[in-house]
Amino acid sequence: MARPTDQTPPLPHIPALDPAEFEQTWQDAPRLLAALNGAQLGAWYWDIKSGQVSWSRGAQKLFGLDPSRPLTRGLDYIELIPQEERAEVLAMFHSILQGQPINSPLRHRIRWPDGSLHWLEITGSLQREADGSPRMFGVIRDISAQQERADALRASEERFASLFRLSPDIMMLVRYGGGEILEVNQHFSQAFGWSAAEILGRSPRELKIWVHTHQRDDLLRLAPQSREPLVQEIQLRTRSGQILDGVLSSQYIELQGEKMLLCTFLDTSERRRAEAALRSSEEKFAKAFHSSPDAITITERDSGRYIEVNEGFTRITGYQSAEVIGRTVYELNIWAYPEERTQMIEHLIQHGKVLHREMHGRHRDGEVRLMDVSVQPIELNDTPCLLLTARDVSELKQAQAQVQHLAYHDALTNLPNRALLMDRLTQQIALLKRHDLRGALLFLDLDHFKHINDSLGHPVGDAVLRLVTARLEASVRLEDTVARLGGDEFVVLLSGLEGKRSEVTRQVRQVADKLRHLLAEPMLLDGHHLQVTPSIGVALIPDHGETPADLLKRADIALYRAKDSGRNAIQLFRSTMQDAASARLRLENELRRALVHGEFELYFQPQVDARDNRIVGAEALLRWQHPQQGIQSPAQFIQVLEESGLIVEVGGWVLAEACHVCARLLADGLVDPLRFSLCVNISPRQFRQHDFVERVAGNLRDSQLPRSTLKLEITEGIVIQNVDDTIGKMLRLKKSGVSFAMDDFGTGYSSLTYLKRLPVDVLKIDQSFVRDATSDPNDAEIIRAIVAMARSLNLEMIAEGVEQQEQLDFLQQQGCHSYQGYLFSRPLPEDEFRALLVRSRH
Ligand code: C2E
Ligand code: CA
Ligand code: CA
Repeated sequence: MARPTDQTPPLPHIPALDPAEFEQTWQDAPRLLAALNGAQLGAWYWDIKSGQVSWSRGAQKLFGLDPSRPLTRGLDYIELIPQEERAEVLAMFHSILQGQPINSPLRHRIRWPDGSLHWLEITGSLQREADGSPRMFGVIRDISAQQERADALRASEERFASLFRLSPDIMMLVRYGGGEILEVNQHFSQAFGWSAAEILGRSPRELKIWVHTHQRDDLLRLAPQSREPLVQEIQLRTRSGQILDGVLSSQYIELQGEKMLLCTFLDTSERRRAEAALRSSEEKFAKAFHSSPDAITITERDSGRYIEVNEGFTRITGYQSAEVIGRTVYELNIWAYPEERTQMIEHLIQHGKVLHREMHGRHRDGEVRLMDVSVQPIELNDTPCLLLTARDVSELKQAQAQVQHLAYHDALTNLPNRALLMDRLTQQIALLKRHDLRGALLFLDLDHFKHINDSLGHPVGDAVLRLVTARLEASVRLEDTVARLGGDEFVVLLSGLEGKRSEVTRQVRQVADKLRHLLAEPMLLDGHHLQVTPSIGVALIPDHGETPADLLKRADIALYRAKDSGRNAIQLFRSTMQDAASARLRLENELRRALVHGEFELYFQPQVDARDNRIVGAEALLRWQHPQQGIQSPAQFIQVLEESGLIVEVGGWVLAEACHVCARLLADGLVDPLRFSLCVNISPRQFRQHDFVERVAGNLRDSQLPRSTLKLEITEGIVIQNVDDTIGKMLRLKKSGVSFAMDDFGTGYSSLTYLKRLPVDVLKIDQSFVRDATSDPNDAEIIRAIVAMARSLNLEMIAEGVEQQEQLDFLQQQGCHSYQGYLFSRPLPEDEFRALLVRSRH
């Protein structure tokens, strides 16, 4: 509004006249002036020639001045106008001065002395005085109130316009009758694809917006009669041809004499699509509801009344939906323990939902089944309801329990296994401690069980284990645990023993003794008369350990000792045994070192034909040259080698070394290859190596020893572990010329049945029989039997441990002429043996 005033020449100064003077000017119309004043209008008079302006009192009031006080001489009307509006006013005065009439009233604001702004409307008319000089008369009125209303109206119109423009609904204003589009809003453009500029002035008919023209005809017919907006469900076509479903609401209006329709269109296509999607999802839900394998029900929470059940429910409970809907869970007795439902609801109220809770449902036929239940609260018709999903987990539970059982039990005997034993042991230790009681761990091992398994087969072995299990279980109290650790190892855990340690020890010994006797009772299995005896090691709880592992280890140490002391025995753990056990561990480590440091040596004991006293062979015997303790007999360490597995390596060394020594003897002409055999002891583990045959062949090749010179001494222990494999290997070796001696014959499970099948060449009569042959008729008898057996099987024989001439005489009487023993020579180091050979040649 504030235009630069540069072009407009400044208006001449307009000094004001005092109202009193003004009134003088108006003398001829005093009544008119009074009327003007009364109407709160101001009057003015401008003598253009003199340049004087007079304001009436009313005008003075409109300028915010005191009407009763004479105007200050300096009142300059222009200065009352706010700066930004002055230019416009001045321009107008200039045009008046140039003789142009004022066509429209002048409207501007003026600032009162108190600073407030007021709108004034000034009119005026140019008149000529009698002398022809121009002057202006005019009226001033305050139009502030009017102006405010106009402002408010404009603002409101603007608001409405922007409402129209920005409405989320699609809006258009159309001329009624002609149908030109007068206005459309942004949403219309977005939805229909035409901008306002493209569409204004065109008609929906021309644009083919209506899909069904009869709907438009209806609208045109009905709209003028209706005071309310007319609402129609219609379809409209967009610029791209897409059809929009929606609701059109049209209001017939007349604006400045023009008939118009204000239309609002609500596009419901989206909603319809959403509804369709919802419907299909509802269908899917319904399908899921009905075809779910789980039982799904909707019940009223408080009454338990059924509102809806699915087919899964029918299948799981045996009730048809018609039978249950409207009845309550209580009437149907659907929960085997109704308090479970109460607790479930409590949980639901507390936590908002229930997930995988186990509850017991009852089938129509009365069977109780374990259910996995999840519940969601829902509200139906203002009633709290439960959406409950239940799955029958009885079988799953059983399977789970079975898996659990399998994980904790031994499949053969169904006894607790090591894992479960350790578990119970942990509990027992804590329990016993709390009640200041004792318990005992009995570690049992069946003597020579391996022999049974290997010679009679696994089915018989299994039957023995089952029978042992039954006997054990029958002889302990219910609260005691019998467990199987594997193989022929059993553990009995006795608990709740009262009394002093000595008293408890006595009790435990009694139980152990009872077990030992019971197990030793003969068994008749599969036509075999069998007797198994146990060795038992005992550890007291808590005296011998506070952890399951410690207790088990100590019971095991005691068991080891029991076996050592000749089997079929009971041993209570003592701390000295622990020392023995650690000593054994130390020995094992020393042996390992001995192997690395080459502390092993071979001694050779000659074998003699008593008829001509000629050396016909030698047995290689292992010796350990201990750095501090001197020479050690294998009796002291061979078992440790065997148990630790070290024997495989040591035995390999023995075999290779023996072959080399013997090859040298041959090379040096000290022995006759046709009448000399070198015997090498083979341990069970060594023999069981899968490539044992190849190893022997390799040794023979390396040493170039004639194969027939090598004789392997095996024990029954080797044979019975796997008769067929043993025979197979023996046959392959025999084929290459190697021969076999059965060592320690008569001490083991000697069985004629397998001896017949074994390709052995020699039976070695064990020294224990030889030792007492001359004093113990029983031993003499055994030797006689062995000799007879060897003869009938066409086997050679040799006696070992012959120390006395009488023993030799006896053996020779029986027909056994070969022997080895101190009587002829102790085992000798290689050089001494060589010397002996040299001597005996002559
Ligand atoms: P064995 O095979 O029965 O060996 C015979 C044992 O009787 C040898 O004990 C020998 O020194 C001893 N002996 C020989 N003549 C007499 C005698 O007249 N009276 C008495 N009282 N004893 C006699 P050694 O050398 O202590 O061997 C003990 C056992 O160690 C052997 O018993 C054998 O089973 C095992 N062994 C020895 N060397 C080896 C080896 O290189 N490999 C394997 N696997 N075992 C071996
Ligand atoms: Ca031997
Ligand atoms: Ca022997």
